[in-house]
Amino acid sequence: MFGRPVEATVTDPANPYVLGPQLCCAAAELPLTHDDLADFGGEVAEAQVAELVAEGLLRTRPTGWYWAGRGRPDVDIRGSGAAPVSIIEGATGRLLGTVDGDASHATVHTGALYVHRGETYVVDELDVVDACAVVHPESPEWTTVARDTVDLSIVATDRTRRLGTVTAHTGVVDVTNQVVAYQRRRLGTGEVLAEFPLDLPPRQLRTRAVWLTLDERAIARADVDDAALPGSLHAAEHAAIGLLPLLATCDRWDLGGVSTALHPDTGAATIVVYDGHPGGAGFAERGYAVLRDWLQATRATVASCECESGCPSCVQSPKCGNGNDPLDKAGAVRVLDVVLDELAGAPELTAEEAEVTRRPAPRSGLFGTSAPAVTDPAADAGATGSDPDDLVF
Ligand SMILES: [Zn+2]
Ligand SMILES: [Zn+2]
Repeated sequence: MFGRPVEATVTDPANPYVLGPQLCCAAAELPLTHDDLADFGGEVAEAQVAELVAEGLLRTRPTGWYWAGRGRPDVDIRGSGAAPVSIIEGATGRLLGTVDGDASHATVHTGALYVHRGETYVVDELDVVDACAVVHPESPEWTTVARDTVDLSIVATDRTRRLGTVTAHTGVVDVTNQVVAYQRRRLGTGEVLAEFPLDLPPRQLRTRAVWLTLDERAIARADVDDAALPGSLHAAEHAAIGLLPLLATCDRWDLGGVSTALHPDTGAATIVVYDGHPGGAGFAERGYAVLRDWLQATRATVASCECESGCPSCVQSPKCGNGNDPLDKAGAVRVLDVVLDELAGAPELTAEEAEVTRRPAPRSGLFGTSAPAVTDPAADAGATGSDPDDLVF
């Protein structure tokens, strides 16, 4: 633990979801010239400008590219649009700080233990409407863990790779997340002391995802029975989320995931990894493009981990909405082996197919999205593992 370096803060300036709004903001200040584009990544920026012109966001003039929209480009630099939540000490009215609005349901819900600069507080009330959480100082013998549900529906499939008994996809998904309860857990042992329901509104996110479906033959080959399947998929999903940042210049907190033995939209065992940013951020598409490297690294990390049945270094997730249950480490390795075996026999992606990360964002994705479709609550019935905490709503 002490030998490891602190994680770097990473971003990909060539990511179209980052670069597009950046170029629009630059053009809104001063018309962009060819010379300017060198500072924005050269060729990548040229291609992005062409897309922005095609989308009507920039206008070409002899003196450069001009912002064509009304007012300023509507870019949310915090990536979400949720207002930050103020943390207020009830007895004194003192403002202790703020937490990201996206994370507030999970971190400062009513009853949550909240740590601020080494001091512990318990939240008396989270007011969602006024975006504030009232707290009092307290150092109980327990901590709290939020529980949430996630419902994911597939809106559109952009790309599909058939790999025998396994299929890889990338496309647009709607994710509905709701923090529904929290547990008090004893410090040190993690023993669950009590669970309390919460009444918080669901939040919705339209984003991009990469997903794998495994048909019955693949499941049989992995020698995973019905009882072990949910835990095997869930463990593979966690490990895959943990490894994608090595290949996609993101942080695991930028990603979310869902795994289920039977997803209503795919009709098969499914593992989904999605971008936790509205409209997507290019991470999941990157995962699709480097699927083999990604899953090989995932498999190697799980298989080589010396723990017996899963630990935070391999298949456990620090933000699992299901409390890391169920998880089947050995099953995850066998599932990944089957997928990798199918990938080994598949032709390499063509350059064009691998270029998914350079495709233009859908217009609605570039500056946030319109309201997603209503999701069918029954669709959640098959979900067995989810990581809604990974979301950055
Ligand atoms: Zn481990
Ligand atoms: Zn999970």
